[in-house]
Amino acid sequence: MYGCNNFCSYCVVPYTRGRERSRDPGRIEEEVRGLVGAGYKDITLLGQNVNSYGWGFPALLTRLDAIEGDYLIRFMTSHPKDATPELFEAMAASRHVARQLHLPVQSGSDRILEAMNRRYTAEKYLGLVRKAKELMPNLTLSSDIIVGFPGETETDFESTLDLVRTVRFDSLFTFAYSARKGTRAANMEDQIPNETKKARLAALMEAQQEVSFEKNKALEGSVQRVLVMGRDGLLEGRTEGGKPCYFEGDDVLIGSFVPVKITTGKSFVLYGELQ
Ligand code: SF4
Repeated sequence: MYGCNNFCSYCVVPYTRGRERSRDPGRIEEEVRGLVGAGYKDITLLGQNVNSYGWGFPALLTRLDAIEGDYLIRFMTSHPKDATPELFEAMAASRHVARQLHLPVQSGSDRILEAMNRRYTAEKYLGLVRKAKELMPNLTLSSDIIVGFPGETETDFESTLDLVRTVRFDSLFTFAYSARKGTRAANMEDQIPNETKKARLAALMEAQQEVSFEKNKALEGSVQRVLVMGRDGLLEGRTEGGKPCYFEGDDVLIGSFVPVKITTGKSFVLYGELQ
């Protein structure tokens, strides 16, 4: 699907890409069937706001999941206001949908979320994460966060750090707010000085790096299903959760799923042994 109807106050997408338009589910099914038949293993459904897909996103996942074959389906990007228990149930019941969710929260402060026009609260977001993890205990969860949004106080930023420590994301994409011409936020008062943005970004990245390291460390000893993508010295692949994983092996494995026992978890990568 293309476009977005949300008008988050910092974002140009609704102006540049226009309103949401969703592709016909039958055409998508046909295309995925063709890709799976041609040997593609990792298929991503794309949309600026993919889970407000016009014909029902959980139903689309269930429909695609029925296609026989050895492949994974991922999707991005999801908006928390459109992420529902039905979505998590469809993921949990599927054979091919990766237990991976990118769910951008942007801030842990309700005041800032409102100024961003995100239309959910931190509590609502935490409730979604609880539900998703309850249904998929091995879910790999990532998010986007903007620091230094106009008017963001130290207290607002602390709320974001609290949320990050509570949720324990596997990884985070962090951004310092930068004004986009033509958006509402660009004209808001209380723009935050660059030094403050930089300091908050550094503090956030440090908090997350600790969590990422602990989460990858906790995978040591587990066996992960890894799709082998190529070679970078060692064989290089991606786990179902999308984490880069390196291990010894033969080039003949490139393009297939293999079981890998994780021996070392670092902040951004995993190392392992072929099983
Ligand atoms: Fe839409 Fe995402 Fe931009 Fe918000 S941030 S307006 S949901 S594309």
